[in-house]
Formats: sequence, C-alpha cells, structure tokens
Amino acid sequence: MNERKPGLFRSSGHDRREFLAGAGASLLWVATRRFPHSAMAAAAPKFLADPYSLGVASGDPAPDGVVLWTRLAPEPLAGGGMPPHNILVEWRVAADDRMRRIVKRGRVAARPELAHSVHVEVRGLDPSRWYWYQFRVGPNLSPVGRTRTAPAEGSRLDKLIFAFASCQHYEDGYYTAYRHMARENLDLVVFLGDYIYEGGIRKGRPREHNSAEVVTLDDYRNRYALYKSDPDLRQAHAAFPWVVTSDDHEVDNNYAGAIDQDGSPPANFLLRRAAAYQAYYEHMPLRVLSMPRGPDLRLYRRLTYGSLAEFSVLDTRQYRTDQPCGDGHKERCPEAFDPRATLLGPEQERWLLRGLDQSRARWNILAQQLMMSQTIEVAGDAKKYGMDNWNGYVAARARLLGFVQKRQPSNPVVLTGDIHSNWVCDLKANFDAPESETIATEFVGTSISSGGDGNNNPAEANRRLAANPHVRFFNGQRGYVRCTLLPKSWLSDYRVVETVSRPGAPIITRASFIVENGTPGAHVV
Ligand code: FE
Ligand code: CA
Repeated sequence: MNERKPGLFRSSGHDRREFLAGAGASLLWVATRRFPHSAMAAAAPKFLADPYSLGVASGDPAPDGVVLWTRLAPEPLAGGGMPPHNILVEWRVAADDRMRRIVKRGRVAARPELAHSVHVEVRGLDPSRWYWYQFRVGPNLSPVGRTRTAPAEGSRLDKLIFAFASCQHYEDGYYTAYRHMARENLDLVVFLGDYIYEGGIRKGRPREHNSAEVVTLDDYRNRYALYKSDPDLRQAHAAFPWVVTSDDHEVDNNYAGAIDQDGSPPANFLLRRAAAYQAYYEHMPLRVLSMPRGPDLRLYRRLTYGSLAEFSVLDTRQYRTDQPCGDGHKERCPEAFDPRATLLGPEQERWLLRGLDQSRARWNILAQQLMMSQTIEVAGDAKKYGMDNWNGYVAARARLLGFVQKRQPSNPVVLTGDIHSNWVCDLKANFDAPESETIATEFVGTSISSGGDGNNNPAEANRRLAANPHVRFFNGQRGYVRCTLLPKSWLSDYRVVETVSRPGAPIITRASFIVENGTPGAHVV
C-alpha cells in the first residue's frame, strides 16, 4: 500500500511531508533527519481546549489521492493559541468510517509560520472510492472526515453529483444550507468564492463579526476561525472533498490585481493581499502548488473526473486589469470594449483555452466567480451593466465565447457565484440578438447567507427575464445548486432555504434545469 511510484516526488520534490508519508520503524529516524535541531517538536503540547476547533477538510481529489487539511487552534479567535514551534501531527486514512482498516498513515509538521495548519497530499489511494481520515496529536484525536477520490484518468464514469456554493457572509445569516448539503449524496463540493467577508462589525444582523475590517495576517486568521466556528460549515467540509477558489472578499471588496477599493498604493495593497492569500491557503484544503509566494497564489487549476467531466477552476481577481469603467452598475464606457481589459490575464486565458481544446471530457466546466452572461438592468432609457463582472470586460468575454464557438469543446458549462442570486442563462454568440447561436450554458448559484433571507419574487424575476431574453431563470433565495452529470444530460437542482435569519429552515428544490448532451442551453424540467 505504501510503495511510491517513480516520479512521485517530481511535483512536490521539496515537500518534506512526502518524505514522512508511510508507516514503519524508520519513520522517526527519517523525521529526525529531515527536521534537524529544534525544527521538529518531540512531544505534543497539553491542550487546554480542543485543538481541532476548526474541523477537518479534504480537497482537490485526484484518482490516487486527496489533500487532507486541519489546523491546530485551541484558541481559534485569538491567534490560535499554539506554541511557536513545530508540532508533529499524525494522519491516518481508512477504508471504513470507524477507522479500523487503515490504508495510509504518516506524520506531518504543523508549522507556526502557517498557523499550525497541515496540508497532507495523500497518494497511493484507489480511484473512485470513499475514504475516511483522522488526525492525532499526542492523545488528541480529530473528528473523522470523509472524502472521495476521483475516477481513474480517462475511465468511463456514468455519474457525478456535486454541489456548488459561494458567498457565506457570517453576519448575514446561518449556514443552514450547509447542514442540508452535508446530508446530500454528493461526490464533491465546489466553492466559488467569498468564503469570508473582510468587513468590520455591523450591528443588528443575525450574527456578528469578531473585529473591525481585517487587514493583517492575524486579522485574517481570526476571521477564518470565526467562519469555521460554524458547525454546519465544518460538517459540510467533513462530509465531502471540496474544490475551492476565491473571489474578492477573501481580500477586499472588488479588488482588481494590485488595486483595492480605496485607492491604496498598490505596493501597500500587495502586502495586504499577501496576508490574505496566506490565511486563505492556511484554511483551505489546497495542494502545495497553491502555497502563496508573497502576494502571488496559484489557484487556477484543472481537475478531471474520468471521461465525464473536467473542471477548469479559475481566478478572476489576481490577474485582472482594473474595472475599465470603474465599479458599480452603470452604462458602459468605451474602455469596456478594450481588448486589453482582462479578467483572467493573458497566461491564465491561454491555459484555459488550451485546456478546453485538449479536453476529452463530456462536460467541460468553468468553475469561476463572475456573471458571464450579459445582464442588463433597464432603468428608464439607460442600460446598466455590472462593471465588476464579465459585462465590464466585453472583449475578453467575446474572445472566450468566440473560441468556444469556433473550437466547440464538448458541452461547455459555466458555474458562477458572486451575485447572491440564482440564474440560468444561455451564453450567446450575440447577446443583443436573441436568435443568435447559444454557445454554452451558465448556471449562477446564489449565496449561502450573503444578503440575508432574500426572496422569491416573481415580479422581479419577470422583469429580469424580459430585459434579458437569454436568461431562463431568476430567484433571490439562499442555498446552493446540486448538479447531476450523466453522459447524456446535466441536471441542475436549485436548492433553497426559506430563511437564514434563524437556524433550522428546511430546504426545497425551487427549480430544476436540464442540459442535453450536445445542445448548449438549459431547459426547465
Ligand atoms: Fe459575495
Ligand atoms: Ca464577490
């Protein structure tokens, strides 16, 4: 079970944790050799409170393994409460939920420079299988998490069920949707950004933030800890592997590259971005590939589920140019049509298009943040567009959709978060010509809690659909979208809760949409 394939170290050759993977008598010796002097703590500290207050998580499934995550934090809201040295953490992966049939185990150092978080890249697991995992520090056992590997590369897969979610403002409401999500029969959760919100305390909401606006590394760490204090969120992490990407609020509202909302000097904002990215990495089940280097964080990446699905996970914040027409909802300025205005940046865009071209998967998913469909808000004679999303970067959108139209990757489906409402859209060759070709399908998922209860207002939905004939559905409630992928069809179920102001609301399917293989555009079921 523990032999290593040739080339295993290539992608993570400098990751000492790989060296520690595997059981056996030589382990301690290896540990001592690889962690000389005081780098490795010998004994576990005595914890006065549960060191696993932030729960456990797993992520980025591959056919042969996943990332296992936890962070030791007995005082989660006050910096973590850990001693300033490395702590040895044991991890185990089992084939059963009682952790009896152990198939992999190892040790890893939880390091103070990463807030005593651990990211274990387990290898050597079987494809398409459920596994359970647990951490141990001295006598302290973590909760048991459950995770699932991806199918073998290129293998036939008949079904994939995942949910996607975004935008979990802690103050705005309870994470009831996650409580329901954890009980779903899913292979995977995809999170599209706004995991935390950076703002300060605003009174009179269902819950309260723990500090003023977060700026420093310590601030961001404590903010993640507050969000992860929610048991429903922890439960959803423990139940499934997650694939995460971030949007703006993990750093600062509507930031663009090195430019923040308040016009700070870019060099200063990049220091804040570095702190924010580091805290993000520390709290997410990401691979070492995504370890930040200063203000840079590699988040865009690809995950493949056999022959059925390929996810291109995008980052539309870090490499973008500033909003061409400024922020907010307004009429378009000429700069929105400038081909140099970009959300992905040239390198990520090339990577995306190349990947779409080479993919052999049935469903090609763009897991990203921002509304791609044209969405006009008609106010009198004026047509207003959201300038922070793809509507403010028209040439970049035309380039992407034009490529898809020309090269015809199999069943392109765009997943979107950010705007705290549910939408289903046809992505058109020409949005202003309703009869023009539908090139791809966009499913926009609402928030988990951001914006508070929201509502299901048919008048508002009708108004939006009338102004945008390629939009098939609008709803303003909270929840997530459950997607069932088969070789012949894609089903999206819009799962919503009546309220997030109080815990305990039931969940219903507000609407379901289907995409048939080979025919872009969704239809109501
Ligand atoms: Fe949001
Ligand atoms: Ca956002």
